[in-house]
Amino acid sequence: MLDALGYATHAAKAPLSPYKFQRRDPRARDIVIDIKYCGICHSDIHQARDEWGRANFPMVPGHEITGVVTQVGAKVTKYKVGDKVGVGCFVDSCRVCDCCKKGFEQFCSNGASFTYNGLEQDKKTPTMGGYSTVLTVDEDYALRIPANLPLAAAAPLLCAGITTYSPLNRWKAGPGKKVAMIGLGGLGHMGVKIAHAMGAEVTVLSHSPKKEADAKRLGADHFYATADPEIFASLQGAFDLILCTVSTGIDWNQYLNLLKIDGAMVLLGIPDKDVPVGARSLIMGRRILTGSLIGGISETQEMLDFCGKHNITSDIELISADKINEAYDRVMKSDVRYRFVIDIATLKAA
Ligand code: NAP
Ligand code: ZN
Ligand code: ZN
Repeated sequence: MLDALGYATHAAKAPLSPYKFQRRDPRARDIVIDIKYCGICHSDIHQARDEWGRANFPMVPGHEITGVVTQVGAKVTKYKVGDKVGVGCFVDSCRVCDCCKKGFEQFCSNGASFTYNGLEQDKKTPTMGGYSTVLTVDEDYALRIPANLPLAAAAPLLCAGITTYSPLNRWKAGPGKKVAMIGLGGLGHMGVKIAHAMGAEVTVLSHSPKKEADAKRLGADHFYATADPEIFASLQGAFDLILCTVSTGIDWNQYLNLLKIDGAMVLLGIPDKDVPVGARSLIMGRRILTGSLIGGISETQEMLDFCGKHNITSDIELISADKINEAYDRVMKSDVRYRFVIDIATLKAA
């Protein structure tokens, strides 16, 4: 077994603290990754604080992982020692169900092994995430990081990047399309960069009026503060596509009205309570309300290659491991510019 040092939480709402555990020795198709960086996704907070009601403790969160390969199993063909790799939200799946065969491993009918707060495919070994020094993973569930992207700023692509790329891709954001991003946080800022690179006209709808200059710098063409009720009248029917990245419940009906006929609003943020939707919001304008969950392995690689080609990474605030609890509190206040990333070297030195 391999010794790992992580940051874990032991109870809902308890602070995270250093935690020693072990990773498996590499099997024939496994690689061992020396973790260099891990992003802090709002989903880490939802789960560490048991806001979704399915937390298992101790929990080492983290699913925006980048690092370097240090060992390869005898039958590994895709990676070699020294390669720059990433791991996202899941580390395994059944590989035989329809979803897995179609490349939608995140929807595996037999249950994907999520990177933490989940179980390996043996259905009994708990998974532990990337706020840790080392990870053993099957090579088929690792991703290649393009050479031109720095590992720290590339880490958030593994969740925030693919979660926004996938619906932008599916709903064909591109030249001539008007795309709105509700919320300029970790997901939102990646969505702005990617939609802009795809050639769409991008609008940010934010409840933080001070983010306007950042939104424009990140690639948005327009910015509206949602505190101004006027915008919900003036922007009626304005957008082809809206991505909702807000981490709490907001009135989706108000935003559905901003879609053109046949426009789609994709829910990405996962609030802890259900939000009522009126039939009128959908019927008037034949609008579509849908959702999206991260992306499969091949689409995640496609996203990384797209980001490599367009030189897209996340705007990050690099923190030492002992600042994780503080970072959680700042994310809760929408005070993140625009993703916290943990420098795992500081954990090794602790
Ligand atoms: P984040 O960095 O905290 O960003 C969320 C943004 O939502 C905030 O920056 C803020 O933007 C806006 N917001 C927060 N509170 C609000 C409120 N009361 N009213 C209106 N807007 C508010 O979080 P994230 O990491 O991007 O994650 C966002 C959500 O997506 C979380 O629920 C997370 O669990 C979920 N998620 C889903 C997937 C998926 O596959 N579907 C993947 C990853 C994460 P402004 O300040 O600009 O308003
Ligand atoms: Zn995430
Ligand atoms: Zn499957």
